[in-house]
Amino acid sequence: MPELPEVETIRRDLEKEVVNKRIKTVEVTGLRSIRRHANKKQFISRLEGQKIDGVSRRGKNLLLDIGDDVLVVHLGMSGQLLKAAPKDATVKHTHVVITFTQGGQLRYVDTRTFGELYVVAKERLAEDAPELGELGFDPIEDVMSWQDFGTKLVRKQAQLKSVLMDQKFVAGIGNIYSDEILWEAGLRYDRPSHTLSIQEVRRLYRAIGEVLNEAIKQRGSSLADETYRDLYGAIGGYQLLHNVYARDGQPCKRCRHAIGKAKYAGRSTYYCPSCQV
Ligand SMILES: [Zn+2]
Repeated sequence: MPELPEVETIRRDLEKEVVNKRIKTVEVTGLRSIRRHANKKQFISRLEGQKIDGVSRRGKNLLLDIGDDVLVVHLGMSGQLLKAAPKDATVKHTHVVITFTQGGQLRYVDTRTFGELYVVAKERLAEDAPELGELGFDPIEDVMSWQDFGTKLVRKQAQLKSVLMDQKFVAGIGNIYSDEILWEAGLRYDRPSHTLSIQEVRRLYRAIGEVLNEAIKQRGSSLADETYRDLYGAIGGYQLLHNVYARDGQPCKRCRHAIGKAKYAGRSTYYCPSCQV
């Protein structure tokens, strides 16, 4: 599933490619991808003729600013937003095609269809998309001191991996980056958050910023299935720098102990049993 670095990479690509473009036509072939709307027309009529004013991100959601409305895109497990030309062949699982008056298209492709697109009025965002309002602080956009972070962390009294993946605590981190951040900080996934020393809180706080920023610099992580693609259809590069994720049995890059794998909340978790405490 795309996490903050992948979604932020696509946001930056969109900023370059679609801002100030006007939507000429919208074609919907996959109704599940626009499931919040009663029908195609209700979705399409709010987009056609509108200009894209800007692109922002909230957690793992992309928000395309269009006049009084916002087009929200959540990529789910396998969604891709791809830049295309009208003459390009339509790949399987293409559900929405947006064509701009200036030429060029934006296509939404999703094999597993957990992702979605929907249009909401800006002034009704809180009522119509409450999950966006419930998101915690953004580790890239928001300024939070390590002291405030520590106070909130201690109050959670939960295991570190579940705290990092709690979107209401910090937005945008999922299964891959929580493992990478915890390795970077030298902390175990199941360590209770209220047992951290001040030094460990600072290390965790620093690791969140460092890992996410480096992953954005590398344009995100594409796993073995290569589902994650940027706007141009290219894979990311951060998977080559993963220290623990999917590296079970391989030597830890810090202490040479074999990387371990555990089941945590139904998902695989990777960690070093020796240098993460
Ligand atoms: Zn180690």
